[in-house]
Amino acid sequence: MVLKLYNTLTRSLENFTPLKANQVTMYSCGPTVYDYAHIGNWRTFIVNDLLWRTLEFNDYRVNHVMNITDVDDKTINGSKSANIPLPEFTKKYERIFLDDLVALNILPPTTLTHATEYIPQMIVLVQKLIDSGHAYKTNDGIYFKVASFSDYGKLSKQPIDDDVERDFALWKFETLKDNGNAWEAPFGKGRPGWHIECSVMAMESLGQTLDIHTGGFDLIFPHHENEIAQSESVTNKTFANYWLHTAFLQVDEHKMSKSLNNFYTLKDLQGHDISPLAFRYWLLPGHYRSPVNFTWEALTAAQTRLARLKNNLALLPNNGKVDQDLREKVLEKINDDLNFPQALALIPNNDKATWLEFDKVLGLGLTEVQFLEIPAEVTALLAAREQARQEKDWPRADQLRQEIETKGFEIEDTDSGPRLKPKNQA
Ligand code: AMP
Ligand code: ZN
Repeated sequence: MVLKLYNTLTRSLENFTPLKANQVTMYSCGPTVYDYAHIGNWRTFIVNDLLWRTLEFNDYRVNHVMNITDVDDKTINGSKSANIPLPEFTKKYERIFLDDLVALNILPPTTLTHATEYIPQMIVLVQKLIDSGHAYKTNDGIYFKVASFSDYGKLSKQPIDDDVERDFALWKFETLKDNGNAWEAPFGKGRPGWHIECSVMAMESLGQTLDIHTGGFDLIFPHHENEIAQSESVTNKTFANYWLHTAFLQVDEHKMSKSLNNFYTLKDLQGHDISPLAFRYWLLPGHYRSPVNFTWEALTAAQTRLARLKNNLALLPNNGKVDQDLREKVLEKINDDLNFPQALALIPNNDKATWLEFDKVLGLGLTEVQFLEIPAEVTALLAAREQARQEKDWPRADQLRQEIETKGFEIEDTDSGPRLKPKNQA
């Protein structure tokens, strides 16, 4: 079946054809490991995972490389304030990142590359750019000359001008602020710029032309535009054939970001009794190219819906067969630029076999469901109902019972107290 993907490079929906039949090379810009990732970052990583799982579901073998940015201004500043050497400091946040990845059911990348392990290759690329007239030296570093690359702007559709302010650092010479985090290079001791890190790790691990390159919307410009300029100036080959970008997770119409201080981490969600997989499930009904607005109410409601789905499935026998017609229809939606919103709407709640089949892509852990999951808010409502009953406030107890029913549970009053069971669904 044809897989169609929206390519930022051409601003159009294209049939996906990898360079090698049945094999896909995919590079995802990974985290900068100086702090906890926020759930905006996680949206992008979950979409990458959905894409990867979709490719595998379509029988492609995917070599998925993700980088870890473990040297840049933020990591150096962080290690300085924490008074911990840079490698130790970044390892700590990398471990947290990888634990969260598991909690979100994101498949670990085939290869994880660390910027600090590719410094010699970065030096080689910078030297090539100098030698070919695409880069020049100033007193604080080596810069890429944007005017030397006539295709500059092809991804972000930015107008090209000769403004040197567009020029960006490939290499930054060592300063006192770097706290000794610098490497010897023929053009001067220093450290790489962020953009060159990704160009080098992508090409070293996957070849000069990648099938797919991913990231969040904010990376289109300048990060990905600059990756293209540096790489293509040296190779004269297309750097990546398909570019996929995920829209922002927003709070009150603003991008969730560290700088606006409007962010939440997975730990914050867990503090509100929202599980990582409920967050993953909450994202599915929004298309990845549309912004999604964060609210606690919406997340809580999604958690309740997921619990209801899991409880329903837990009660059904495990012997159903996947309806091939339905499978085809659902896959057709997923293959239409990852249209999960429409795909999910096609699967009946009681079709266990189909849910389990597509959980290979959805990654909601539905196969592990054996026990009822009762959301914390339902437990709280039940406790409130018990209290009302003890106080003989029957109207309130009744109202709470009804509220529990809207969340998908029925109360069974037994000798040993009230028990919750999933409400029968029509
Ligand atoms: P960073 O660690 O800042 O390099 O970000 C990691 C990834 O998260 C990048 O692909 C960003 O584009 C993406 N990202 C950052 N903020 C958001 C957001 N609010 N919504 C969706 N993706 C985001
Ligand atoms: Zn990158």
